[in-house]
Amino acid sequence: MTQLKTDFSYIDDNYNRIIYEIGDAVAKYGRSDEKIDIMAVTKTVDPAAVNHAVSLGIRLLGENRVQEYMSKKEFYSGSADVQFIGHLQTNKVKYIIDSVSMIQSVDSIKLAAEIDKHAGRIGKIQNVLAEVNIGNEESKSGIDKSCVKELIYQMSEMKNIKVCGLMAIPPATDPERFLCEMQQIYIDISAENIDNISMDVLSMGMSGDYIEAIKYGSTLVRIGRGLFGPRHYP
Ligand SMILES: *Cc1c(COP(=O)(O)O)cnc(C)c1O
Repeated sequence: MTQLKTDFSYIDDNYNRIIYEIGDAVAKYGRSDEKIDIMAVTKTVDPAAVNHAVSLGIRLLGENRVQEYMSKKEFYSGSADVQFIGHLQTNKVKYIIDSVSMIQSVDSIKLAAEIDKHAGRIGKIQNVLAEVNIGNEESKSGIDKSCVKELIYQMSEMKNIKVCGLMAIPPATDPERFLCEMQQIYIDISAENIDNISMDVLSMGMSGDYIEAIKYGSTLVRIGRGLFGPRHYP
């Protein structure tokens, strides 16, 4: 049986559009000197399509589900870093700890402690972000904004964890208000100069709001549908 070569030109088109729009936004919002990372969010996407995006220059992949990631990772080309961005149960930390460069979705001291423990076992310092439930939405994970500073202070004491910044998924209705609020929290925590942490990453902005996210200081946008098209759940 001959394998038909799949046409991924739609990914090229989407990628070019995203690069163009981000270039526009950094100029418009005075951020031309800063680097904005583009993450390809891979949920439901075939590894061949993911590898195509990587071949275009994407250097970060975002994984939401442990099981899906486990079934796909052997097919990845390996030239992009994988970061975990989905809700992470403590009992699943052990499956991903050796292969993700960042866990963006740390939203409790309990989860942080579990990551610290497993990272210690394999002799790794695990980079993490604190995920903030900025819209205080029941359907979303993330720590309450009133508790995020305390979580970061606690994580700064953990030997096998390195806090690198914050992540959020603002509500789809009125994202701008919440993106702005995230930027303020990021600035406030940065100003505390907490030992053993770096506040280098503000991960916010998805297909629907990445331009606004750049306006409010995002350093890493996470794009799924805008790059790969609509999701098809099996
Ligand atoms: C799915 C997802 C994204 C990407 O969403 P799109 O709207 O497809 O761009 C970004 N971040 C997280 C945490 C996600 O789960």
